[in-house]
Amino acid sequence: MKLTFLGGAGEVGRSAVLIESAGRHTMVDYGIKIYEGGPAEYPLVPYKKINDVVISHAHLDHVGFLPMVYEREIVPWYGTPPTAALAELLIADAMKVQELNGFENPYTVESFERAMNNFEAVEYNNEIKMKSGHTLTLHDAGHILGAAICELGIEGRSVIYTGDFNLSDTRMHKGASFAEDIDILITESTYADREHPDRKGEERKLLKNIEKALERGGCALVPAFAVGRAQELLAILYDKFEGVDIYLDGMAIKATDIYLRFPEYIKDAEALHESVHNAIIVRKPYMRQRAVKGQSIIISPAGMLSGGNALWYLDHLPPNSSVTLTGYCAEGTNGWRLANKGCILKDGREKKMNYFVEQVDLSAHASRSDLWRLIKRTNPELVIAMHGDHCFQFADELKEKGFSAIAPSMGETIPIK
Ligand SMILES: [Zn+2]
Ligand SMILES: [Zn+2]
Repeated sequence: MKLTFLGGAGEVGRSAVLIESAGRHTMVDYGIKIYEGGPAEYPLVPYKKINDVVISHAHLDHVGFLPMVYEREIVPWYGTPPTAALAELLIADAMKVQELNGFENPYTVESFERAMNNFEAVEYNNEIKMKSGHTLTLHDAGHILGAAICELGIEGRSVIYTGDFNLSDTRMHKGASFAEDIDILITESTYADREHPDRKGEERKLLKNIEKALERGGCALVPAFAVGRAQELLAILYDKFEGVDIYLDGMAIKATDIYLRFPEYIKDAEALHESVHNAIIVRKPYMRQRAVKGQSIIISPAGMLSGGNALWYLDHLPPNSSVTLTGYCAEGTNGWRLANKGCILKDGREKKMNYFVEQVDLSAHASRSDLWRLIKRTNPELVIAMHGDHCFQFADELKEKGFSAIAPSMGETIPIK
């Protein structure tokens, strides 16, 4: 067996692993890397024809390049049903954004449609045989709706590709659990170099910053990623501020509809249902004007303020409003600028924002200690670290502790004996 890392090696974004065994080729994830206002970056395209594709979850860094496969061949791709529904929403949006920014998409709408037509649904914990002949079992990764840890059976070995995973419980999902007998572990390493702060403390920080604005007659804007974070926020904020309107805007609305379509994939679907019922869904522009009149909470993408209606709100919030960033903001994004410099970039100039700004960590990724806990417990023959900015250091640390570990480079092939 040979593993080739076509993307996501030593970086977060464009994850893609090609598994070759007995002349068969399986692609595991095929993502893109997105930059604010700039062209996306893509993984490498394999020379060989592939037999099938496995997608761990619907985030664009794992699925955004899937239509490219269908530019030249028709093969099945496997994932959970919510992954297919969310992927359709997110890929269509990414294609639109690329065009709006003046960049050409590398694949056609027809290829995107062909991808959507060749989806094969796999439920959690249900072993199937793939077209390539390998077995595949998807396990709940505790990351976003339908996210899976992918267990492949190849040449009598178990190869686990974690995708993105979370070992801790959140409002939406139970933490992931792992099999004990792993041979090869390909793990995400997003937080290999750091711990998450205490989640309860972060939630308190969020509530406090909202309260501060509401008490002073302002609005509380909470920019959020459409998939995962927006729904988590609805559940956190539900019943915390009696009589205060909570608005939900932008792509988070469609993503939330998909969440509600798959209640069996959520820890407490009833609670999400209640909190959506309690929220005001922004379906018409005039509702936005109403939302910024004061003393309301607004949940709106984009999480890093890289686009979406959150930017409109930033321009129209009343005085004494607050903005709470709810996750990682890449350097150079408006979210990062606001958190670090108190301004955003507008028409090429920095514009000062006079709001109460706070940043909290509601991450849905494993922390450094979670990664170590997992590796020690499963004790695989080989650990391959990808999907992180510190993969090489992480692999070195693992080797120092006696594990066999590799952090591949982009395009590198690792033979498995
Ligand atoms: Zn993800
Ligand atoms: Zn990811």
